[in-house]
Amino acid sequence: EVRVAPVSTAADPGKRLFVITFRDLTEARRMDRMRTDFVANASHELRTPLASLMGFIETMQGPARNDEAARSRFFGIMLEQAQRMARLIDDLLSLSRLEMRAHVAPEGEVDLGRTVAHVVDTLKPMASDLGVEIELELPEQAAVVTGDVDELIQVFSNLIENACKYGQTGKRVQITVADTEGEGAHVTVRDFGPGIAKEHVPRLTERFYRVDVETSRAKKGTGLGLAIVKHILARHRARLVVRSTPGEGSAFTVKFGPSVSGKISTKNQLYN
Ligand code: ADP
Repeated sequence: EVRVAPVSTAADPGKRLFVITFRDLTEARRMDRMRTDFVANASHELRTPLASLMGFIETMQGPARNDEAARSRFFGIMLEQAQRMARLIDDLLSLSRLEMRAHVAPEGEVDLGRTVAHVVDTLKPMASDLGVEIELELPEQAAVVTGDVDELIQVFSNLIENACKYGQTGKRVQITVADTEGEGAHVTVRDFGPGIAKEHVPRLTERFYRVDVETSRAKKGTGLGLAIVKHILARHRARLVVRSTPGEGSAFTVKFGPSVSGKISTKNQLYN
């Protein structure tokens, strides 16, 4: 934005002076636009299951009133729609809490190997239902980073769940926790599924961005998982690196700074 304002000086009122101000509005406009898009997307995402619920309630009050078999099938669908709304609301709340904490650095000590092993334990039943085997490779020395254990559990859960769901055809998911001199502490989640076409990769962490909306819905996705991962990693000053080859699979790597110590610490951990 450029503004030109005429001014006069007391010393020489006859002289014409102008003050020109420059203000960069592009960033502010972009943020505004993103906020409006987000509210519109979130409302639409919540409206869809709600409309379905309302439709089924009407059908049960009318045409299906005396059809016991149809009613029990509809109740099943209604429960699924309500669960979808609940997942969306949970993810939206997670994002909003993370935004409020964006400027506070996390300060616990997190043993990456133990944390990832814990997440793998909780996800094993889901993986085996999908016919996926999870392989875990841990470092000899503990890799400990500064962070919030609950948030990092959420990061690894989202990545491992995605690898199992979207990479299901690959039958296995390989997870590596390592701490090397060159790369620092890092965790890689690799699948051998269909992979992701190059043009989608830079947009994966956008809110509600999905490569295929129908597949994501069928797999109970909200389109917010990787946006949550991005926010948590920003707070941890960690990076997400995505490598994917269509037809071969994907690798999502979380890169932290150097490990804070080689020793195992149980401070601030959820589990034992
Ligand atoms: P969703 O809730 O849809 O899973 P995410 O934010 O977790 O949302 O992921 C965004 C999209 O990225 C997914 O809808 C999917 O299309 C794609 N994606 C994520 N992980 C993988 C993966 N391991 N393999 C292939 N596609 C993936």
